[in-house]
Amino acid sequence: MARIKVKNPLVEMDGDEMARVMWAMIKEKLIFPFLDIDLKYYDLGLKKRDETEDAVTMQAADAVRHYGVGVKCATITPDAARVKAYGLKKAWPSPNATIRSALDGTVFRKPIMVRNILPAVRNWKRPIIIGRHAYGDIYAAMEMTIKRPGKVELVYTAQDGQEMRALVHEFKTPGVVMAIHNLERSIRSFAASCIVCAIEERSELWFSMKDTISKTYHACFKEIFGREVARRKADLDRAGVSYRYLLIDDAAAQIMKQEGGILWAVSNYEGDVLSDLLAAGFGSLGMMTSVLVSPDGLYEFEAAHGTVRRHYLEHLKGNPTSTNPAASIFAWTGALKKRGEFDGSGEVRAFGEKLEKAVIDCIEAGIATKDLIALMERKPAALSTTEGFIDAVAARTLAPG
Ligand code: NAP
Ligand code: MG
Repeated sequence: MARIKVKNPLVEMDGDEMARVMWAMIKEKLIFPFLDIDLKYYDLGLKKRDETEDAVTMQAADAVRHYGVGVKCATITPDAARVKAYGLKKAWPSPNATIRSALDGTVFRKPIMVRNILPAVRNWKRPIIIGRHAYGDIYAAMEMTIKRPGKVELVYTAQDGQEMRALVHEFKTPGVVMAIHNLERSIRSFAASCIVCAIEERSELWFSMKDTISKTYHACFKEIFGREVARRKADLDRAGVSYRYLLIDDAAAQIMKQEGGILWAVSNYEGDVLSDLLAAGFGSLGMMTSVLVSPDGLYEFEAAHGTVRRHYLEHLKGNPTSTNPAASIFAWTGALKKRGEFDGSGEVRAFGEKLEKAVIDCIEAGIATKDLIALMERKPAALSTTEGFIDAVAARTLAPG
């Protein structure tokens, strides 16, 4: 079979543990046999990050900036235990966080849906995508424990010495305080990325905060987001994307009654919680994809799950694994379809779609890994191994039609 030529390079970022094992299989069985592609390879495996003092992560981010599209395998974010176990020079930061801040992007999580796995919410028929703002709020908060009576104030000192003060609370009994912040620039980029993604998905765009209670902080988000939407109104209209601002509690109730086809943009904390809620509601972590979209239209695709360490330990012992590669395969197809779109190559886009269909067809035919079988009402007789599933997808991709 003649391989399809991909015109421009794709940035590939390798990762760790079981995710890395699946990654190699996907390339060998689903990418190289079908595509003639120039991959700009960056090894973000922990060993290489340590060797290069994490320079490789920045180089990968620069490459995505240069070529426009990247695909990334899950990587370890080392904690103290990993620093010791791997003898690392230090606890290198999360590569995802580094790339996200280098590209100033927002992460969107989207479930892969199949007919034989029903979402926990009966009404959900199409994906609900979560757009999580990823700067500030409680993730960059300053906190204090108050043990004795006294007052807590917010004090802002301008560079010219001018001061603004506000009483937070006059403590008579012990308590606790927290101060959070955000930046207009970051909120604007977030809104811009959400707009790019909603247009791309041809979905509705929802944004929710609690501006009735937080009349300054949340109201600022609402105002900036609304302004960005107004600025891009013509593009949104052309793509048929409608915009709704809802209070977060109203949105939480409304989302249960929707069919899907919605990009739901939320604050950092709500995004943290809701993306896990939605992932569980739609099925398995192995079926959740993730895409980083920058406000200027750069894309990085990955699976939402991590390196699946528990399965990797089994793999190292020589035991067969049944890890679901669907989200990793969809990271590749997402990147290929985007590459094809940027290059004006219908053939590459069609290949991405064919590969996605092969994954879905396999699962719907009962060829599935353990995580999915647990969710199926009519259970297949046997479960697929990690490799067995990828082989079945390859066979279907090769099949004519
Ligand atoms: P994880 O790798 O997502 O795995 C947690 C559990 O979820 C697994 O043990 C497995 O459950 C299930 N699972 C996840 N993906 C699956 C798949 N494809 N197929 C089947 N089951 C799947 O999270 P973690 O174990 O908490 O984190 C491991 C490492 O990943 C950490 O070092 C963390 O820093 C990193 N991480 C990286 C990323 C990223 O690069 N994007 C994201 C998250 C975490 P069972 O064991 O019950 O089968
Ligand atoms: Mg979380």
